[in-house]
Amino acid sequence: CGIVGYIGNKNTQEVLIDGLKKLEYRGYDSAGIAVFTDKGLQVAKSVGRLANLEEKLGGAPLVGSAGIGHTRWATHGKPSDENSHPHLDESEKFSVVHNGIIENYMELKDELIKEGHKFLSETDTEVISHLVAREYDGDIVKAVQKAITHMRGAFALGVLTEYEPEKLVAVRQASPLIIGVGEDENFIGSDIPAILKYTRNIYILNDGEMAVLTKDAVELMTIEGNFISREMIHVDWDA
Ligand code: GLU
Repeated sequence: CGIVGYIGNKNTQEVLIDGLKKLEYRGYDSAGIAVFTDKGLQVAKSVGRLANLEEKLGGAPLVGSAGIGHTRWATHGKPSDENSHPHLDESEKFSVVHNGIIENYMELKDELIKEGHKFLSETDTEVISHLVAREYDGDIVKAVQKAITHMRGAFALGVLTEYEPEKLVAVRQASPLIIGVGEDENFIGSDIPAILKYTRNIYILNDGEMAVLTKDAVELMTIEGNFISREMIHVDWDA
């Protein structure tokens, strides 16, 4: 339902929670964040209100320089802690937030289980983290591109891997996603209000496009890997 992502030097957890609060109006049944910390990728998620997640984080804040967050509106799998996003693969090296529906997830899940993957949730989304892990060969952008070739349906994605903590990958296919450009920091959001507090410089992704964010750069490309140049828009309205 709602996606936010951050890479930069601010308090990542705070930026993510703040963004998710701005997306609450869309409705949701659970929420979660993954942050790249000095102990690797760490996830906190909770069914129910964002306040439940905040309560969990209260005792154990996630400190790091990149992260992704999600408010879920369940389509496949009941609202529960396990089914909340972000989803990991079993190596816990890849994390994914997803808006939309993977129509062929049953086939993909069967195939992945046959290959030895172990699933922890009932969601369609979890196939994505396993697919990205399977396709990973040292380059997260290529792994995401390869994973996408297997997926049918609607998806906006935020992907983080522990192997390349300096990168945040975003994809848009039939579910909205925007990129926010800051100074020594960059953002993703399913909606402009999620990040408007931090930047007014925005790239709108079109269907079939993706973005690779580092702290100080944003690269836009098609999901086939052809680079795109696009004019940044300046948002002059307030959310
Ligand atoms: N289909 C996914 C799920 O049920 C994502 C739902 C959403 O867009 O929030 O977990």
